[in-house]
Amino acid sequence: MIKKLSSNLMSVRHRINEAAQAVGRTGAEIRLIGVTKYVGAETTRALVEAGCLDLGESRPQMLWEKAEALSDLPVHWHMIGHLQRNKVKRTVDKSDLIHSVDSQRLLEAIDTAGRESDKRVNVLLEVNVSGEAAKHGFQPDELGSAIDYTAGLQHVVVRGLMCMAGLNGGLDDARREFDRLKQLQTKYAADSPGNVELKELSMGMSADFEIAVQAGATMVRVGSLLFEGVS
Ligand SMILES: *Cc1c(COP(=O)(O)O)cnc(C)c1O
Repeated sequence: MIKKLSSNLMSVRHRINEAAQAVGRTGAEIRLIGVTKYVGAETTRALVEAGCLDLGESRPQMLWEKAEALSDLPVHWHMIGHLQRNKVKRTVDKSDLIHSVDSQRLLEAIDTAGRESDKRVNVLLEVNVSGEAAKHGFQPDELGSAIDYTAGLQHVVVRGLMCMAGLNGGLDDARREFDRLKQLQTKYAADSPGNVELKELSMGMSADFEIAVQAGATMVRVGSLLFEGVS
């Protein structure tokens, strides 16, 4: 199993490097987050042993369980899915970065949890760039007020923006959506408050991570491709 995981991992890293070089970037600028929502703790452990130290989960309980099961490993945990406010406390304690912050109420709950745990919580603001009704995230025109709101929070640091390409679009739509996220980063990074850095862009999954890299992604979230052929 670990052999196959290693070769899948190498193949994805190779493709990230190639995509980066094609636009004058280097693969070292891009963090690969292995999305482990499809597999159990044992396969997740093997992925870490194969060399993937950034892991993402889309369900809070799964993240908590795996973070506990793998607490002996130096893993950075990324919460990438919708987060309900009653699950914030444990998620703040167990994750290094919450990618999927999609409302002011969630920002407020994270700030409260950060205060209780005496830490500043690293988050990304999720933006609904595809405009699909089923997608979470701030609308692009709500981003400015979300950033203003964050300026008043002591226990939240916004590291960047996150998006998912629309489910129904093709790669051209995905490219347009990733370009849009990059534009929003440029627009708001210029004079953002001290706890809003906007350096990171989390975008791109198995089907579209190369175009995300070309559009400026600093983090790609890849699941299925890593587990292909792994039983
Ligand atoms: C599942 C998931 C991914 C990974 O998707 P793959 O297509 O399997 O690579 C990335 N981001 C989010 C938010 C996800 O839920």
